[in-house]
Amino acid sequence: MSDISFNNTAIAFAHKSKRDLSKARLLFKSFRYSGLLKHGPLLAKIVIALGLKSLIKQTIFKQFCGGETIEECNATIHFLAQSRLGTILDYSVEGEEDETNFIATSEEIIRTIDLASGNSNIPFCVFKLTGIMPFETLVFMSRVIVGGSITNIDLLQKSILYLETNDDCDPQVLDTHRENWALGSARFNLICSTAHSKDVRLFVDAEESYIQTAIDLLAENAMAQYNQSKAIVYNTVQLYRHDRLEYLRQQILSTRHFLGVKLVRGAYMEKERERSISMAYESPIHKNKEATDRDYNAAVSLCMEHLNRVSICIGTHNDESNLLGVRLMEKKNMLPGDERVYFSQLLGMSDHISFNLSNIGYRVGKYVPYGPVSGVIPYLTRRALENSGMSGQMGRELQLIEQELTRRKG
Ligand SMILES: Cc1cc2nc3c(=O)[nH]c(=O)nc-3n(C[C@H](O)[C@H](O)[C@H](O)COP(=O)(O)OP(=O)(O)OC[C@H]3O[C@@H](n4cnc5c(N)ncnc54)[C@H](O)[C@@H]3O)c2cc1C
Repeated sequence: MSDISFNNTAIAFAHKSKRDLSKARLLFKSFRYSGLLKHGPLLAKIVIALGLKSLIKQTIFKQFCGGETIEECNATIHFLAQSRLGTILDYSVEGEEDETNFIATSEEIIRTIDLASGNSNIPFCVFKLTGIMPFETLVFMSRVIVGGSITNIDLLQKSILYLETNDDCDPQVLDTHRENWALGSARFNLICSTAHSKDVRLFVDAEESYIQTAIDLLAENAMAQYNQSKAIVYNTVQLYRHDRLEYLRQQILSTRHFLGVKLVRGAYMEKERERSISMAYESPIHKNKEATDRDYNAAVSLCMEHLNRVSICIGTHNDESNLLGVRLMEKKNMLPGDERVYFSQLLGMSDHISFNLSNIGYRVGKYVPYGPVSGVIPYLTRRALENSGMSGQMGRELQLIEQELTRRKG
C-alpha cells in the first residue's frame, strides 16, 4: 500500500505564497462572524453598486472562483495543469429565471464543451438543470413522474398529454410547464449531444430531491443514448439521501450501457429538512452524518466492484472517502491514472487532498466556478456558510493553512 498522506501541507500549498496563505487565513476566519454571513449577499450588492467590485474580486471571489469569463480562467487552468490537476469549468451564475438567461447559460455551457474538446487539462464539463429550465417546471414534472410511476421520457410525454384531458389541472399552468419542459429538455439534449460529438465527459449536477426525479429521468435517458461505448454523461448521486444507495444499485443492475456516476454527499440538507417539516412529509435526508458517511463509502465500494461498466467521480472533501477510493484502487491493482476513477474537489478547498493525490498520479479535477461577480454571489455565500462552523470544513481548512504557515516559519 502506498503511504499517501493528506497532511503534507508542503505539497498542498506549494503554489501559495506566504502572503496568499495569510490572506486565506484571514478570509476563513472572517466566516466566523455570523452577522457578516447573514448580510453577506446584501453587503455584496452594496459594494458592487458603490463601484467597489474589486474588493470582492480580490478576496472571496479570488479564493473560490477562476474568473469572470472563460478567458479569465486561463491562468487557473494553466497553474492547475502544472500540478497535473484538471479543471472543470463551472458556470456558476444563479439568478433570473427567464428564457433569455436560460439560452445564454446553455450557450455558455456549450462554450466550455468546445474548449474542453481535445484539451486534456479540462477532463469534464458540468452544468445544473436549473440553469437552463425553470425550477417550478422541474418540481411539476417530478410530481408527474412520481405520481404516474413513470420510468422513461416517452411515457412522460404521454402523461403530459393525459393531464390535458384531466380537469384537475389548470390548463394555463399545464401549458406553461409543457412549453418550458419542451424548451429546457431541448437545451439539455443539445448540451449532451454536443458533449458526445466532441468526446467530452459531462457531469449533470444533482439538486433538491423534489426536482431531482425529473433531472434523473433526463440524465438516465441521455446516458442510454450517449454512453453506448463509454461513459460520456455522468449523473450525480447524493448519498445524504436514504434512498440513493438503492437507486444506484438498481441503476447498475438494470442498465446495459456504460454508467457515469458522480458521488457526492449533498448540498441542500437544511433546505430539504425545513421543507419536509413545513409540508409534513418524511425527510429524504439521513438522520445523522454517520449514516450519510456509511452510504457514501458503500457507494464508492459498489461502483468500484462494477468498473467494467461504471466510471466514477469521487466528489468529496472528506479525507476518509478519498482514501477509501485510493485503497480500493490499490486492492484491485489499478494504476492511479486509470480513467475510470476521478477524484474531485472545489477550487479553494481541500488542496491537501487534490494536490497530494495528483502528486502521486491519481486523476483529480478541480471544479472551477466562474461568472460575473454579481452572478456568483449565491455560490460564494454557500461556500462561506459551509466554512462558517469551527468544526467541519472550516476547522479543517484553517488548521491546514496554519500548519503550513508554522512549517514555513520553522
Ligand atoms: C467536486 C464536487 C462536486 C459536487 N457536486 C454536487 C452536486 O452536484 N450536488 C450537490 O448537492 N452537492 C454537490 N457537491 C457538494 C457536496 O454534496 C457536499 O455538500 C460537500 O462536498 C461537503 O461534503 P463532503 O463529502 O465534501 O464532506 P463532509 O464534510 O464529510 O460531509 C459534509 C456533508 O455531510 C452531510 N451531512 C452533514 N451533517 C449531516 C447530518 N447531520 N445528517 C446527514 N448528513 C449530514 C451533508 O451532505 C454535508 O454537506 C459537490 C462537491 C464536490 C467536491
